[in-house]
Amino acid sequence: MRLTVIGTGYLGAVHAACMADIGHDVLGVDVDIDKITALAEGRPPFYEPGLDDVLTRALACGRLRFTTSLREAAAHGEVHFICVGTPQQPGSRAADLRHVDAVVDGLAPHLPAPCLVVGKSTVPVGTAARLAARLAGLAPAGARPEVAWNPEFLREGFAVQDTLHPDRIVVGATGPAAHDTLRRVYAPMVAAGVPYLGTDPNTAELVKVAANSFLATKISFINAMAEVCDAAGADVATLADALGHDTRIGRRFLNAGVGFGGGCLPKDIRAFTARAQELGAGAAVAFLDQVDEINKRQRTRTVALARRLAGGELTGRRVTVLGATFKPDSDDVRDSPALAVASALHREGADVRVHDPEGTANAQLAHPELRYSTDLLTACQGAELVLHLTEWSQYRELDPVKLARVVREPLLIDGRNALDHDEWRAAGWTVKALGRPAPQ
Ligand code: NAD
Repeated sequence: MRLTVIGTGYLGAVHAACMADIGHDVLGVDVDIDKITALAEGRPPFYEPGLDDVLTRALACGRLRFTTSLREAAAHGEVHFICVGTPQQPGSRAADLRHVDAVVDGLAPHLPAPCLVVGKSTVPVGTAARLAARLAGLAPAGARPEVAWNPEFLREGFAVQDTLHPDRIVVGATGPAAHDTLRRVYAPMVAAGVPYLGTDPNTAELVKVAANSFLATKISFINAMAEVCDAAGADVATLADALGHDTRIGRRFLNAGVGFGGGCLPKDIRAFTARAQELGAGAAVAFLDQVDEINKRQRTRTVALARRLAGGELTGRRVTVLGATFKPDSDDVRDSPALAVASALHREGADVRVHDPEGTANAQLAHPELRYSTDLLTACQGAELVLHLTEWSQYRELDPVKLARVVREPLLIDGRNALDHDEWRAAGWTVKALGRPAPQ
């Protein structure tokens, strides 16, 4: 099928390459000429494991091309996927839909024939209905574009695998034709047994924000328990293990630490509360404000722990932060807890050096005030305190004996509760973590 994928960022670039990989004829579109040039040359403009392979394969077989022209996109596509960003509006908690609207406005007048416009971006409930009216008003009479919503659930770091082997496909549409079309688009996945959940657009839009709200709540729940553990002298890791054995609860997403970040969860729960308020249902999701507050508090609690360990004063202290990205296996530093903590330590006068396996370039753009080392041992040289804030496997594999030799003081805050504390203590380190009592 002839598909366009409009917006080739973390979501769209992977979607475009994977759709070509399963046999479609795909045109990727973006306003960012540098991104389009890189993708057309087979160079992923960001770090995502496996994307280079699938991109190279798709380009080589001629089923994937890129452009900046929505006019060209309109001529090419039977199905147009909208994958542009929906960030938080400055000065508000609501989603900023200007990029989604710009795509519709740019595409509609050029549509030559009936087609399906499918939103994948995360949007406030009601957006598909609003865009359908907008498209109908702008498109030529014969084009009759239909709108469906097909929210995306991929995880950065696993984006290729999640796109090719999703847990489920959710599609909201107003009639059977759109479902037929999308079942054909996703035919290999559907044939492999991936559940196809067909519903109306409002429900589909809500599924995505509900899923993110649930995940954010689970993370903030365990972080709230970590705060109580700190007050009570109890151990949140053992508590999480014990809770996790209950199959109704499950162990995943119960790792206490510095909290969630990135370009999705924080802004999505805020946009959800803003939209629910508009709908008169604000009280129903008011708990998400608490989820957000608990999450932000883990960053200040981590800084406070560092300050306490430094004897109440961080000025001039050599601190190393391991991790800049919001999660491992990505170079995405949007709303990264690691960088927020690093920046706060810097503001308090600490001499901060940050290390990250893939995120240094983006981190430098976002926080030029911090110092960075691409070499792990150099980053830790002379450190009086090391904070582990992003769960890269490289950090789990670190040799604490070797590292103890290069730091000035073997003092570690494990902000992800992911390192082997016994092993680090045996190597001479003092290890602290949120929600974990000091060993007797
Ligand atoms: P991103 O910022 O990486 O990518 C957005 C892309 O859209 C950019 O390349 C930008 O240049 C392009 N763009 C903006 N305006 C455009 C226009 N008018 N025409 C064409 N291109 C335009 O963002 P992302 O992380 O890929 O997220 C995109 C959407 O997907 C968001 O709604 C996000 O919430 C959702 N989402 C993201 C993920 C994820 O893991 N990143 C997962 C699920 C859903």
